[in-house]
Amino acid sequence: MRLTGQCHCGNVKATFDSQKTPQELGVRTCQCAFCRAHGAVNISDPDGLTTIDGADADINRYTFALRTADFLICKTCGVYVAAVMGEGERIVSTLNIAGLRIKAFDGVGEAPMDYDAETTASRIDRRYTKWTPTKFLDPELACSNFGPH
Ligand SMILES: [Zn+2]
Repeated sequence: MRLTGQCHCGNVKATFDSQKTPQELGVRTCQCAFCRAHGAVNISDPDGLTTIDGADADINRYTFALRTADFLICKTCGVYVAAVMGEGERIVSTLNIAGLRIKAFDGVGEAPMDYDAETTASRIDRRYTKWTPTKFLDPELACSNFGPH
């Protein structure tokens, strides 16, 4: 399936390609204060592909706590779009389908997740294992580093 979404103002768009169904993928609600403040509902597929279409100038890259990922926030409308980690050919992300208003997962049970007990190393490993390989259409972002290096 191919799903598309965008932030509230439309400056940041995302496309998610996966061979799995929404039921097979499931959705996660991270319980950290940032994700709850945004009402985030996240999806990822390590065998899929996410494409983020937004200009570097339109995206704020917020980091906090362990600073192991960049949280992409639209500078215009304030929607949290995705969390991104990595560099070069190894960039992975998790999409916030609530912010992007992707409706295909309506009715899929949410799995609350609490990652507080993770070490930094295990958090990074989990993301590379679980998150979606990601590319950016804006070359400024495509050659960027996200999170730890
Ligand atoms: Zn926006």
